[in-house]
Amino acid sequence: MSNKKPQKQKDRKKNRQKNGINGFSTLNQVAGVPKPREYHSSIPVETPSAITEPRPVCVYCGEVIENIASAFVTGEDSFAHFDCVLERIRESEKPGDGESISYLGSGTFGLIGHDEEGKVIILRKIPVETPDETKAMKAYITTLRD
Ligand SMILES: [Zn+2]
Repeated sequence: MSNKKPQKQKDRKKNRQKNGINGFSTLNQVAGVPKPREYHSSIPVETPSAITEPRPVCVYCGEVIENIASAFVTGEDSFAHFDCVLERIRESEKPGDGESISYLGSGTFGLIGHDEEGKVIILRKIPVETPDETKAMKAYITTLRD
């Protein structure tokens, strides 16, 4: 038992020389600068809360609008279902035979009919949203998706 200790020390010395640990390998070691620590910010990281789409109520039917992206802006903080708007336009325009109401895009519907040659033409444009409202709506929806 007693002769084991010196044997171990000898081995250690041997290893040290082998690995070349006796000298300084960096300037920081010479100056006694402590090892740089990993920086941990104390500022809590905000976890983004789940984005919930607002569920406004349709001004025409009073039902909740599930998909705001397909709804129309009918005024300030006023929304309506696509179908409800379409229905309302149908009632007011009363398309005749061979005529129909179609959505043209950009907040505008059209009364679609045919000319003398049978070509499909837009008889009348029916804007639902002003361009500004359409733009505001698109921007609004974009913020929901961010
Ligand atoms: Zn509705």
